[in-house]
Amino acid sequence: MRGVVFDGRSVRVVDDLEVRDPGPGEVLVAVAAAGLCHSDLSVLDGTIPFPVPVVLGHEGAGVVEAVGPGVTHVVPGDHVALSTIANCGACAECHRGRPTMCRKAIGMPRQPFARGGTPLYQFAANSSFAERTLVKAVQAVRIPKEIPLASAALIGCAVVTGVGAVLNRARVAYGDSVVVIGTGGIGLNVLQGARIAGARPIVAVDANPAKEEAARRFGATHFLPSAQGVADVLPTGADHAFECVGRVELVRQAVDLLDRHGQAVLLGMPQATAEASFVVSSLFLDKSILGCRYGAARPQRDFALYAELYLAGRLLLDELVTRTYGVEEFARARADAEAGRVARAVVVF
Ligand SMILES: [Zn+2]
Ligand SMILES: [Zn+2]
Repeated sequence: MRGVVFDGRSVRVVDDLEVRDPGPGEVLVAVAAAGLCHSDLSVLDGTIPFPVPVVLGHEGAGVVEAVGPGVTHVVPGDHVALSTIANCGACAECHRGRPTMCRKAIGMPRQPFARGGTPLYQFAANSSFAERTLVKAVQAVRIPKEIPLASAALIGCAVVTGVGAVLNRARVAYGDSVVVIGTGGIGLNVLQGARIAGARPIVAVDANPAKEEAARRFGATHFLPSAQGVADVLPTGADHAFECVGRVELVRQAVDLLDRHGQAVLLGMPQATAEASFVVSSLFLDKSILGCRYGAARPQRDFALYAELYLAGRLLLDELVTRTYGVEEFARARADAEAGRVARAVVVF
């Protein structure tokens, strides 16, 4: 089968990839579509260190092909969106409703793939840039068949990361003010999460004026080319400022934009060793800085909710899919994503 493989030096599309059959508690999924997220590119440039060779992709949706012993919540033929959290389901973190904090789901990459007898790692417990992939049962979330799979694919990273950060981590309340720095795939989803939460105003900040139309469609009430103008809209500061770019000077900017009791939520991904600074006394008025892994999601609950909101017209998915590419066109999808020409490039099989 075909798939996108990175060997530590170059990335290429291969057609001799194999995946093993599902064992107990596992689901084999025929991937229909997978978004190209910045995190895939971060593996290629070393920002995210990951063992190689590895099959890339982590934002996919498809059709269940087979299930292993003990799997009862999905059956072959079901449509599923794939989560990247291979949590155990049996530890204290899982049972306090924090599967993203499960210690068995971080830093233990598996090798369900092989090429010519050599095992390949699975990126983000997912590897959706492959015609078929193998996930744990908790990761396969059944979705209604009315949702186009190229759109449903984005639930598993861009949507859950952005909307989840707003609803689960920041817990933005009705009428809260929100500033979103950066309006790429994650930023647009923070904007629509803020809209769903009933935030107002919702101020998007992006230096690229071409992003304004999409930002407003997703929920921005204001669009500014830089943070300088935020004080005109929010004279006392923001209740929530989301950094969605991954630059330390913008992290600082998010902190400096906060109102009393405000919180800065860091979603962008700078280099792993990057350090940011802030004036300590600027946090004294009950302000906070929050990290957020994967939208603090509970995928079986949240993905189903996002699917419902999509069908009700309240969550935008189709608008995130700028273009689809056959897997053979991966290099072009990568070039378009790196140049910022697309909200999401989606690879289809
Ligand atoms: Zn991602
Ligand atoms: Zn666990």
